Amino acid sequence: MTRIGFIGVGTMGLPMAINLVKKGFAVTAFDLNAEAVKAAAAAGMTAAGTAAEAVAGAELIITMLPSSSHVEKAFTGDGGVLAAARKGTLCVDMSTIDPAVSRRLAAAAAERGLRFVDAPVSGGVTGATDATLAIMVGGSAADVAEARPALSAMGTNVIHVGAVGSGEVVKLCNNLIAGVSAVAVSEAFRIAQGFGVDPKVVTEVISKSSGNTWVMEKAHPVPGIVARAASTSDYKPGFMTDLMCKDVGLAVEAARALRIPLFVAPAAQQVYRLASSHGLGRKDFTSVYSFLKPSSDQAPV
Ligand code: NAD
Repeated sequence: MTRIGFIGVGTMGLPMAINLVKKGFAVTAFDLNAEAVKAAAAAGMTAAGTAAEAVAGAELIITMLPSSSHVEKAFTGDGGVLAAARKGTLCVDMSTIDPAVSRRLAAAAAERGLRFVDAPVSGGVTGATDATLAIMVGGSAADVAEARPALSAMGTNVIHVGAVGSGEVVKLCNNLIAGVSAVAVSEAFRIAQGFGVDPKVVTEVISKSSGNTWVMEKAHPVPGIVARAASTSDYKPGFMTDLMCKDVGLAVEAARALRIPLFVAPAAQQVYRLASSHGLGRKDFTSVYSFLKPSSDQAPV
């Protein structure tokens, strides 16, 4: 039975780690949030009081943390993964972070005799719960092969996309599209609503037309159309606005570094940032729909 040290059992990490337990892995969990650790223990994991404790006896280490700075701290901070893991251990970071940070951490891990792959995920909480995540993995073929049994316990599409950092590249490209789509779908449905056309009918027609998108099918921003969508549960995340803002921002930063002109993604990023500054940061990202309300301005357009 492979022993796994799992750091970050939040919205995504907890259901992912639960699937590892269900498939027979022995999981020791740590999170800065004591409630999250309690939930992990209740689901059959061993609770750890520190990150070092979680990884000390592990054969495989998984991290599922919010952003680049959290992952860097968890790896390189005092009592972090790099200091506490046994030599030779494979580290699998499943968070969505800057690909350059993944590459830096892989190099730092190698200096300590550890191995590192990046394996960000797509599919949301539903995918994490149902073990149907798409997992895009960057790393050496041997390391990816070693991680595959654990990854396959959490997802149905485990795809080796290239060298370390490549998984994050694919992920930020995906979330650029998903983030922009959610704003576009929200705008479209506000217009339909303004004209009094039933959003259910609009959804049915668009789902068979060229505007169809994953966001509309699985994470419809309009409440009451997709039963499992966050919008139907008062935009309880799901995937928080702040995290989507971070991910679209990763794409914007990458394009800046590569000198690629970008128009739509920066606009979408500002919508999420504004939604966050109006109190929607910890709501699901599809709450941008509730934010994009008609103005009371009576002036003709
Ligand atoms: P979350 O905030 O719910 O969970 C992150 C957890 O990490 C929290 O419980 C937090 O307490 C813990 N944490 C932070 N710093 C820590 C540290 N140094 N040591 C230990 N624990 C620490 O976020 P989430 O929604 O689970 O997202 C996690 C990652 O997955 C993010 O990078 C996100 O972009 C990505 N992601 C999320 C979704 C989604 O639908 N929520 C989908 C795909 C990818």
